[in-house]
Amino acid sequence: MGNQIIANLSKGEDLFQLIAEYSSDMITVHDSAGRYLYVSPAGEKILQYSSEELVGEDSYQLIHPDDHEQSRKNHETLLNTGYVVSTYRIRRKDGEYIWFESSIQSLYGRAFGEKDNSEAADEPKLIVISRNITERKLVEKKLQEIEELFQIITEYSRDMITIHNAAGEYLFVSAAVKEILQYEDQELIGKCGYALIHQEDHKIVRQNHELMLMNGAGVSTYRIQRKDGKYVWFESTVRFLPGRDPADPQLIVMSRDITQRKIEEQKLQAVNEKLQHLSTKDGLTGIGNRRYFDERLIKEWKRAIRYSSDISLLMIDIDYFKPYNDTYGHQMGDESLKQVASAVQKTLKRPIDVVCRYGGEEFSVILPDTDETGAKHVAETIRQTIEKLKIPHAGSLINSFLTISIGTASVIPTKASDPATIIKAADEALYQAKQGGRNQVRSFKRKK
Ligand code: GH3
Ligand code: MG
Ligand code: MG
Repeated sequence: MGNQIIANLSKGEDLFQLIAEYSSDMITVHDSAGRYLYVSPAGEKILQYSSEELVGEDSYQLIHPDDHEQSRKNHETLLNTGYVVSTYRIRRKDGEYIWFESSIQSLYGRAFGEKDNSEAADEPKLIVISRNITERKLVEKKLQEIEELFQIITEYSRDMITIHNAAGEYLFVSAAVKEILQYEDQELIGKCGYALIHQEDHKIVRQNHELMLMNGAGVSTYRIQRKDGKYVWFESTVRFLPGRDPADPQLIVMSRDITQRKIEEQKLQAVNEKLQHLSTKDGLTGIGNRRYFDERLIKEWKRAIRYSSDISLLMIDIDYFKPYNDTYGHQMGDESLKQVASAVQKTLKRPIDVVCRYGGEEFSVILPDTDETGAKHVAETIRQTIEKLKIPHAGSLINSFLTISIGTASVIPTKASDPATIIKAADEALYQAKQGGRNQVRSFKRKK
């Protein structure tokens, strides 16, 4: 093609013709009334008409009715000034409209393809270079729609929508700011968002900010100060605004006032704590908790005094449980605690016997009306039961499975005695069991 052009040029062919023939823009020549005199090949392709079909026709007939008026005005300007740029829709042969942006130049004298002829030379000719901008118009329309949508959302959303630069400064603040933070948007534009955040929440927000930079989005819950000095709770989702210069990123933040929710949560937590306090059940294992143990021990202690009967106490402690957590994780640790609690409970045959979670990985069993021999027997059954569960324990120094140590104490209490003494005694026996190598039962022996 290039060679062809050079060959043609060297033959002295008109340069205009070459441009017209090879340009991807449509080039047309019109008489002063707008009738086609010439249509370039690109024009034939775009409009789907052959040159023969168009030459002599009024080009205004193809213009979209809605664009007629503007085109007529442009035409007048053209006749006055000799040049105009016009944007309008034109109908293709298949009936579809396409958007054109045309630069129209009026000139006197010979136009392309004409013989030099003095009569024609006085007539102004219009040279029109038209670009198909349908794509661009579609994009513009989409953008406009999006912009309108954004405007509606920001105007009517009860969430506060803000746009920030990388430093956190407000670039845009939506209407909701007035109701939520009591500021006018202009009071915030240019200010740093961090300035209003509660000092104690700076760290968490900054952390989330860093995470957001890595993940592209994030959510933060924090307190922010209103104009009147009061703090409100915010839940904000943050993400990058797409399509911005990566060197100058912008963040869009949607913030919701969750103060009411926070107040409800705090109330609920307070109630839960109260309930927990009143409760006698251990939350993890479902057996009696320490509070229940204390109550039951006093009750059984008094009963034993009344009837001068025996009472025994077992203190159970899981062996090497810290390494268990370290090896299998805290969650598995919790699971094992549940298994042990339930297994111990199942070994207790009398309804009056009770196992409680004494604390952490320690359990206590109250055996009313049971002497030292009986206590030892129950303790040994429990020890074996746990061993038989065969819970793998790679961190134990004495066994490949989870084991327990048990200390027992038995007494016929008197009015002068205190239930704390039996706890202390069972604890001492437990210590002996640990010292003796763990996974065993020891009974408290009163020093003579
Ligand atoms: P030993 O009794 O054999 O001397 O060793 P140990 O590792 O069991 O002793 P220690 O009393 O030092 O550790 C008890 C550990 O039990 C500490 C903690 O990791 C774990 N623990 C306490 N309460 C819980 C709990 O509720 N859940 C879990 N998973 N672990 C607990
Ligand atoms: Mg312990
Ligand atoms: Mg232990």
